[in-house]
Amino acid sequence: MSELDEFRRTVEAWFRDNRPPEPDFLLPESFMEVGSDAQFEFLRNWQRKIYDAGYLGMAWPREYGGGGKPQIYQDIVNAEMARQKVPFVPNTIGLNWAGPLILAMGTEEAKKRYIKGILNADDIWCQGFSEPDQGSDLANSQLAAKRDGNDYVLNGSKIWTSLGSYAKYMILLARTNPQKPRYDGLSFFLVPMQTPGIEPRPIKKLTGEYGFTQTFFTDARIPAECLMGKEGEGWKIAMLTLTFERGVTGGQAGGISRVAPGLNDVVELARRSRRDGAPALQDPAIRDQIVRFMIEDQGDRLCAKRGEIAALCSERPNAIGLSVKLRVSEHRRRLMQFALSLQGANAVRFVGDSSAIDGGKWQRGYFNAFSSTIGGGTSQIQANIVGERVLGLPKD
Ligand SMILES: Cc1cc2nc3c(=O)[nH]c(=O)nc-3n(C[C@H](O)[C@H](O)[C@H](O)COP(=O)(O)OP(=O)(O)OC[C@H]3O[C@@H](n4cnc5c(N)ncnc54)[C@H](O)[C@@H]3O)c2cc1C
Repeated sequence: MSELDEFRRTVEAWFRDNRPPEPDFLLPESFMEVGSDAQFEFLRNWQRKIYDAGYLGMAWPREYGGGGKPQIYQDIVNAEMARQKVPFVPNTIGLNWAGPLILAMGTEEAKKRYIKGILNADDIWCQGFSEPDQGSDLANSQLAAKRDGNDYVLNGSKIWTSLGSYAKYMILLARTNPQKPRYDGLSFFLVPMQTPGIEPRPIKKLTGEYGFTQTFFTDARIPAECLMGKEGEGWKIAMLTLTFERGVTGGQAGGISRVAPGLNDVVELARRSRRDGAPALQDPAIRDQIVRFMIEDQGDRLCAKRGEIAALCSERPNAIGLSVKLRVSEHRRRLMQFALSLQGANAVRFVGDSSAIDGGKWQRGYFNAFSSTIGGGTSQIQANIVGERVLGLPKD
């Protein structure tokens, strides 16, 4: 047996034997819906356990707390976590965008200070990019960071801050110079959330759950050493962060960020649902739709494989990564919609309704499926990026 096969078997056994017992409260579907202390502590302990077993940050340098192994080991772990549908890890923003960013361009001191806490979930991270009046138009961010001696003073507000109630640090895009052209006046900060004057206020979601906040900054003073890179380099650093967030660039420390019903679960639901007195799965129109989903799913899988072979994507190295977010998030939203359509009038029943099919998880999944078609760049913006940067179409 090859070393990788043996590793795969060890990982399979570890997750099978160490999966935490079902808690007596509802777990969130993704890191974007962590809304209660009980949910948070449960997930944080789970992340710690996975890290202690050596299964997070496997490809990150050893000197900062990583495993120093080739990326393939982490890929195997991630795939196994998804296959066994174990709970997700909460520090997604730390593990998969703040962490890779700090490793790519942080100072030696920053790497020593932040990386281990990201991996073992001591330090949860959040992201302060969107503002109430500018989400897609990120370059127009207005939150002010004014230099005052050895500090910057922050004033303004950020919105849709996932994990804002639980994070210890925030990656923040702020305007340091309103006189300069909009791209040049921005700077990037690593901000301690416990700073006086920073106040995250929870926002309730469509599903009734919490998970993100509007974060207010009122004369919040942070040390100048929180600046990442140089003053005025914020736009460039934010763009690099987005390449990690949208999965275009590698370097992520792994874990999975979501546990939601997938295509196989939908097939099983179609088997249980009824159409004209027979299982819905026997209806040719339903079968046709399911096969279409399967083809898309397989297409995405093969496309991801193609991305691993440099010779097949060297002409357009970012094409696959850029299009995956768009395709996968829209696929999920349509799949969840289809799952509801199988339920007839029962589709209106939500979590908490004793007659909801499967406890209402499909309804919750449907509402939550919109998250990834908006967060990290909306589908419309993502389609524009693919059109312009990959296909070379004229600007819209
Ligand atoms: C669940 C969730 C979690 C999130 N977490 C975070 C987080 O942790 N940190 C953070 O900073 N942000 C977060 N966001 C915010 C997210 O990044 C923004 O919502 C997103 O960038 C869109 O911005 P907006 O909401 O201001 O919409 P707008 O920019 O106002 O867009 C409204 C609509 O107009 C369309 N549109 C806008 N401009 C164009 C254009 N040029 N061409 C075509 N269509 C256009 C958009 O596609 C969209 O359909 C989160 C969002 C969600 C849903």
